[in-house]
Amino acid sequence: MNEPNHLTNSNGCPIADNQNSLTAGERGPVLMQDFQLLEQMQHFNRERIPERVVHAKGSGAYGTFTVTNPIPQYTKAKFLSEAGKQTDVFLRFSTVAGEKGAADAERDVRGFAVKFYTEQGNWDLVGNNTPVFFIRDPYKFQPFIHSQKRNPKTNLRDPNMQWDFWSLNPESLHQITILFSDRGLPASYRHMNGYGSHTFSFINEDGERVWCKFHFKTKQGVKCLSDEESANTMGLDRESHQRDLYNAIERGDYPQWRVCVQIMTQQQAEQFQWNPFDLTKVWPHDQFPLIDIGTLELNRNPENYFAEVEEAAFTPSAFVPGIGASPDKVLQARLMSYPDAHRYRLGTNYHQIPVNQPRCPVMNYQRDGAMSMGYGGSSPNYYPNSYEDTPKEAPEYKEPAMRLGNVAADRFDSREEDNYTQAGMLWRVLDEDHKERTANAIASVLGQADSEIQKRQLCHFFRADQDYGERVAQKLGIEVDASMLPSS
Ligand code: NDP
Repeated sequence: MNEPNHLTNSNGCPIADNQNSLTAGERGPVLMQDFQLLEQMQHFNRERIPERVVHAKGSGAYGTFTVTNPIPQYTKAKFLSEAGKQTDVFLRFSTVAGEKGAADAERDVRGFAVKFYTEQGNWDLVGNNTPVFFIRDPYKFQPFIHSQKRNPKTNLRDPNMQWDFWSLNPESLHQITILFSDRGLPASYRHMNGYGSHTFSFINEDGERVWCKFHFKTKQGVKCLSDEESANTMGLDRESHQRDLYNAIERGDYPQWRVCVQIMTQQQAEQFQWNPFDLTKVWPHDQFPLIDIGTLELNRNPENYFAEVEEAAFTPSAFVPGIGASPDKVLQARLMSYPDAHRYRLGTNYHQIPVNQPRCPVMNYQRDGAMSMGYGGSSPNYYPNSYEDTPKEAPEYKEPAMRLGNVAADRFDSREEDNYTQAGMLWRVLDEDHKERTANAIASVLGQADSEIQKRQLCHFFRADQDYGERVAQKLGIEVDASMLPSS
């Protein structure tokens, strides 16, 4: 065994000299044989991963969410079910438009993404410090972001591009007003509110759905910088918000937020003066008052910024039973685009990175892919299967249908469609020799499956055509019994 303080290479082999290259003679050249030198150079070249296109510059911390007021009348989410119940969280704050090295104190919207490690899986609320957004249709997101980033020719942020887009898309005005108000320059991440922004679903034990919005109200009080203060801060410290958050947590001054929800019934949604799923609109507080549900506290800094903040992956599609999506078009697009971005940035197994791993068992049939840690072991990798001790569907968690005008969004069972008639028609088209060849080909492979599986499959042949079933049964040497035949 190596001594615990021995320097080793990535294979665990002790390194005797980590400061002098292996050379042919004292003055060189360097030898290819110095594998550790090559390894160090090569690993260094690969240290960076793709930068997030938006929200590239971030700060993160772990903490706790504590329920103060359970709301079982609205949601069956277990982590919200009892006063005093605590759930671990990880929160990543960010600026939106700047690159990874951007200054924290720039005028910008701020990301406010919370991962709740609940007993029923991770719930990610991937929000901002504003309750609305610049657009209401996801078609406009990529062009919008292009207009806020760098001019393709000058490589400069370009007010002409920004206002060209905004002036052609007046749905941005609400968010523009917030951005250019004092709150566009938060004094720190601790001194700003967070919002889920989109409308979401709450579903209770009775399968009743209401619409909801999430609010995180800073207990530190909202504090903002003036333009002059922002310029001075950026001149002195590009990492002002990272420093403030890190230092506050290190000195035990743990920032807290009141966590509140607004509730809108489906009936209220039909009568609301605006589209309740429009991301450019809030629900006025006097009509939909804030209901306190808990407190969020940040109380632990990450140990390794890259592994825990840079590799943190939040996705609006990470829901838990009792919380779901809404028809909000931008939310619907984000349900896909966030996991897609993580697959590009971190790889298809980004869930297996410790900061992203659920704290409850994960059991499904996804397997392999780059950097897989062997998840799933030797258990079957397909579903449905015939084995007892494999993960099974849990129909009690089925979401109620979502009413959308005259139709409903639901999972419509297609398994009982007519599966047999056309297979039987094809069987009867085959001539005698062809039927023999087909039955032989089937039996040669099906004969290698478990006997239970052979019998189950024979039932299907019989339902397509009596002769089809009899012929395959005969090739398999299986005696036909009444249980295999369709009931007339
Ligand atoms: P209310 O009159 O009930 O409350 C005013 C809201 O404005 C408070 O939430 C306050 O936040 C917030 N506010 C104050 N200054 C700013 C600012 N510079 N940027 C963003 N928010 C600010 O509001 P209504 O519900 O009738 O909504 C009126 C407007 O308030 C909305 O159009 C929206 O821009 C803003 N707002 C509304 C929210 C909502 O969910 N209804 C949420 C956040 C903002 P605080 O409580 O921290 O002082």
